[in-house]
Amino acid sequence: MTTTVHRVFNFSAGPAVLPVSVLEEIQRDLLALPGVGMSILEISHRSKTFEAILAQTEADIRALANIPANYKVLFLQGGASTQFSMVPMNLLSAGGTADYIDSGSWAEKAHKEAKRVGNAKVVASTKGENYSRLPLQSELQLTPNADYVHMTSNNTIEGTEYKTLPHVGSVPLVSDTSSNMFSKPIDVGRHALIYAGAQKNLGPSGVTIVIIREDLLARSVEKKATLPTMMNYQVQAENTSLYNTPPTFAAYVVGLVMKWLIANGGLSAMAAANERKAAKLYGEIDRTGFYRGTANKPDRSLMNVTFRLRTEELENTFVKESTAAGFDGLKGHRAVGGMRASIYNAFPEAGVDALVSFMQEFERKNG
Ligand SMILES: *Cc1c(COP(=O)(O)O)cnc(C)c1O
Repeated sequence: MTTTVHRVFNFSAGPAVLPVSVLEEIQRDLLALPGVGMSILEISHRSKTFEAILAQTEADIRALANIPANYKVLFLQGGASTQFSMVPMNLLSAGGTADYIDSGSWAEKAHKEAKRVGNAKVVASTKGENYSRLPLQSELQLTPNADYVHMTSNNTIEGTEYKTLPHVGSVPLVSDTSSNMFSKPIDVGRHALIYAGAQKNLGPSGVTIVIIREDLLARSVEKKATLPTMMNYQVQAENTSLYNTPPTFAAYVVGLVMKWLIANGGLSAMAAANERKAAKLYGEIDRTGFYRGTANKPDRSLMNVTFRLRTEELENTFVKESTAAGFDGLKGHRAVGGMRASIYNAFPEAGVDALVSFMQEFERKNG
C-alpha cells in the first residue's frame, strides 16, 4: 500500500503512537475482514470470527510474556483507573490490609480509590520529593500478611521505572504496568495480578488487559453477593471476558500489535531497542547541563523521558518550536510541567534521532 499521508513524530504519553504497519492493516481490512465480508466493527462478539480473534490475541499475549498456565488473561473496559477500584473490591478482605507503594501520581490515585473500599496503607512514599525517585526496598514498611502489595511499574507522569521488582515475600504482588507493559520481558510468575490500559504500549484506548493468578479468584467468589457482577474478576474469567460485549475493536487492534511484537523479535528485542532509544535521549539531556533530567538517574524510565529547562518561558518556547518542527506531545503532564518524551515500543528510533538534533540546535540558539 502506498501512503502519501504525512505523519509527525508523536511523543504522546497515551493514547500513543501505533506501528504504521498495524494502522495500514486496520485500514486495509476495515471494510471487510478477509474471508468474512464484514467489518470488525460490525461483527458479533459471539461470532466464530471474533472468538477466534480474541483467542489468538490471548495466545499471543501468553506466548510473548511466557504466562504460566495458572493465570487468566482478561480483556476489560474502564481503563486502568477502573482497576484502581476493582483490585481492592475483589482482593481486599473485610479485616485485611492492602499495602500501596506511593511512587507517583497514578500510584497515589490507586491508593485513594482503595481507601474507599477498605484499609489501604501507604508503605512508602516519595511524594515529598515530587516522586523524582522510586522508594527503596529498605523504605518499605510492609504489613505482614497483607492482602496484597500494589506497585506501579512505570510512573508515566514523573518518568521513573522499576528495573527490578520489589521483594514482598509471599504477599501477592499487584502491578499497574499501564505504561511499560511489553516494553521488556516480564516475570509474570512473581506477580499475582498485572493490569494495563492498552493505550500506551499495547494498542488503542478502550481495553484493559488484566492477568490474574487463578487462586486469587476465590476471593471474588467469596464476595460474590456484594460485588457488582461486571466488577467481579471470577465472573469475567469464567466467561472468558464475554460476560457482556467486550471492546471488540480495541481487542482486535491489540491482537495486531501482538503480532507486530512477535514479528519484530518479541520482548527481548523490544527491550534492546527501547534501551538504545532512551540512551540516546538521556545522553543528550546529560551532555552539557542545558537540559535537566528530573528523574533520579538509576530510576529513569525507558518509556517516558522527563526533562526541564532553565525557565518555564524557555520550556514554552521549546514546546512551541518543537511543534512547528513536527514533534507532537512533548509538553510534560500538567501536574509536573517541563517536557516529557514518551518513546514507547512503536515510537521510531528515527524520531529519537530527530529530537536529539532538534535539542542540539535549540541549545545552540538559546544556550
Ligand atoms: C495512563 C495510566 C493510568 C490511567 O489509565 P486509564 O486507562 O486512562 O484509566 C493508570 N496508571 C498508569 C501507570 C498510567 O500510565
